[in-house]
Amino acid sequence: MRMNLEYGFNNESLPKFKEYKIKEINNIKYVVPKILKENMSNYSLIDFDDYKEDDKPLIDFINLGKLSLEEKENTDSLVIEYVNKYGLLGLIHDFPVNRYYTLEKEVLLKEFNYINNKDYFTTIELIEYFKIFFPTTTEEEIKKLIEKINKFIYEHSMEKFISPEINNLIYKNEKYCERVNMIIKYAQFMYNTLKELKKDNGEYIDTREINKLESNHIRVNLEYDGLTIHIRSLKEYIDEDFKLYAIQEKKYLKLCKHCGKAFIASNPKAIYDTFSCKNQENVYNSRARLSSNVTKTKNGLTVKVTPSEELSNELLKNPEKN
Ligand SMILES: [Zn+2]
Repeated sequence: MRMNLEYGFNNESLPKFKEYKIKEINNIKYVVPKILKENMSNYSLIDFDDYKEDDKPLIDFINLGKLSLEEKENTDSLVIEYVNKYGLLGLIHDFPVNRYYTLEKEVLLKEFNYINNKDYFTTIELIEYFKIFFPTTTEEEIKKLIEKINKFIYEHSMEKFISPEINNLIYKNEKYCERVNMIIKYAQFMYNTLKELKKDNGEYIDTREINKLESNHIRVNLEYDGLTIHIRSLKEYIDEDFKLYAIQEKKYLKLCKHCGKAFIASNPKAIYDTFSCKNQENVYNSRARLSSNVTKTKNGLTVKVTPSEELSNELLKNPEKN
């Protein structure tokens, strides 16, 4: 069966700013657009068509999760590096259960959201919800923005015209930003989910974690030769692309046996992401064979140290010292 990811119904790109930076607002770290020059276009586009072959937005995101677990001190720069390449995730669309949440006074949040960190439904007032993503915008401005969004919803007779216009209003807005900890949490979740999926038979698999990768309000259309999944944000792209790989056994989303990074394998037997990883692993293996004192561990090679003869004799003579 063929499955297709299509962005925004009638185009395949998403607005993003050229550059982003980290900014602390109300003691919370945010990724905010960098305004390079006034009166100049500060945004560009991410075109999902460019990544049809290599799925880089997905792979880099999983590896962002991995690296942020290992290099906690570099988290900010890792996040900026990712967002500069692909833009913000579009999380504002992701937490509400209702696709057109702006039409309501209160937003129903899905179980697994990063706002209250509880695993059950909650509601939040619409204005308060917008403040999470527009922390420097006044309440009046937020109300105007919501009015504009709703006008688009009422104006159009076909849903496919609504998403691109709402996305322009939100993602081209200089004041739209996302919290660093939400981005990181989600990246780590994706990395951990892939790790769970890649466990061998017999190992304990935490299916509860895997189940958290759910989609709300994603439209799926039947086509003459398969299904088309319509996505509206980078977050939805990552989720759906991930799921497509996860369910297709022949597809090859894997973790490198040497460095542990995610990659797309070109054949089902491939276990390393790069030639250099394969090479290094071979070197380790052949070195390990050279001496019985050398054992291979996850972090490389461990050499077993045996005490010298003098020291051994010393220890044998004075056993009480041990
Ligand atoms: Zn590797």
